[in-house]
Amino acid sequence: MNPYDFARIDWERIPERRKPMWHNRLVGNADQKLYSGQLEVDLDVLTPLFIVDPRHDPADNREPALSIQNDYGEYIIPGSSLKGMLRTLVETLGNGCLTLFDGEYDRREINYRNKIASDFRHCWDNTNLCIACRTFGMLQEREGRGNVFLGKVNIGDAIAYKHVLYQSIYTGVLVEPKPRHKDFYLDVSEEHIAGRKFYFHHSPNGKPITANSLQYMGGRPSNRYIRPLAKGTQFHFRIDFTNLEEDEFGALLLAVVLEETMRHKVGYGKPLGMGSVELIPTKLTLIDYAARYTQWKMGQGKQEFEKDIWTEVNRHLAIFYAQHLQTLAIEDLRRIWRFPPDPGVNYYYPSKREWFDKPVSKGKRIADTRSVPRQM
Ligand SMILES: [Zn+2]
Repeated sequence: MNPYDFARIDWERIPERRKPMWHNRLVGNADQKLYSGQLEVDLDVLTPLFIVDPRHDPADNREPALSIQNDYGEYIIPGSSLKGMLRTLVETLGNGCLTLFDGEYDRREINYRNKIASDFRHCWDNTNLCIACRTFGMLQEREGRGNVFLGKVNIGDAIAYKHVLYQSIYTGVLVEPKPRHKDFYLDVSEEHIAGRKFYFHHSPNGKPITANSLQYMGGRPSNRYIRPLAKGTQFHFRIDFTNLEEDEFGALLLAVVLEETMRHKVGYGKPLGMGSVELIPTKLTLIDYAARYTQWKMGQGKQEFEKDIWTEVNRHLAIFYAQHLQTLAIEDLRRIWRFPPDPGVNYYYPSKREWFDKPVSKGKRIADTRSVPRQM
């Protein structure tokens, strides 16, 4: 089966935009409750995980590349990667704008820009922002004038406090067959893009798709020789947040915890069965700066949730589910990020020659690819 599918966008429901709460505000409008503090999160590796170190040249195959480490030799997942993953989820589940995807694939080879209604395109005005741009920030260059909102969430690097190495592998080729199949990328009406792309999990008992050597395309390798981290590796990271409104806080919490039957994917080789991880919140600290400011007592206005963390998290999730959740998207993401995955299905790119280029594949959608020939 095709290794990815799309979480649909509800085109009837335009992203709600409003003025963001600025950093220096102590209380919201009319005593509106705002959330500031920290969330501590454990991250457990479920299938081989590899984060590319940009300092390493993929053509150098004398030694397998290791997943990125910091200056102390600790394995890390950069905060920027985690932020990107969580932002995409807030956009998807909270009905945000389309930040990264503007309809262009492969530098103008295919352009679906006209398949995105203008109200769904990336926010352009820092006084009128969607939930994702209010939470994580926005940077929009338009006619030479920068228009910026810094965002209210900071995420530190996840640091491995325990690591297990997987064996050395040449990964499978990471080039999607071309041409892009419009029956995958557009919805049935062909009026809109199909949604936001997510990769299925592979079985944690299986092995990622590999090759026997480096495979060159256009003079550059299209795979890597690596030694990933294995199941058993455990990271920890911290999210700091300031002045989040109720919907923003709920969306952030949902992006971290998802649902019991779902897991995240991060890093290199997602179509090959790599990068499945579980996020487990371990401690939530809420700081009421308004109370601290007015009452002049240390410790005043600080709440810590550790054993009872789920009571507090679930309280905010319930509000988010009732008022803000994008239901089409969670239905799709539940299926795509289901973990463990459907045991009867293997995920791989269908073969260009044996499938995409055959007349029989015309009009076929992702759900129709369960047993088609695979790309070699
Ligand atoms: Zn936005």
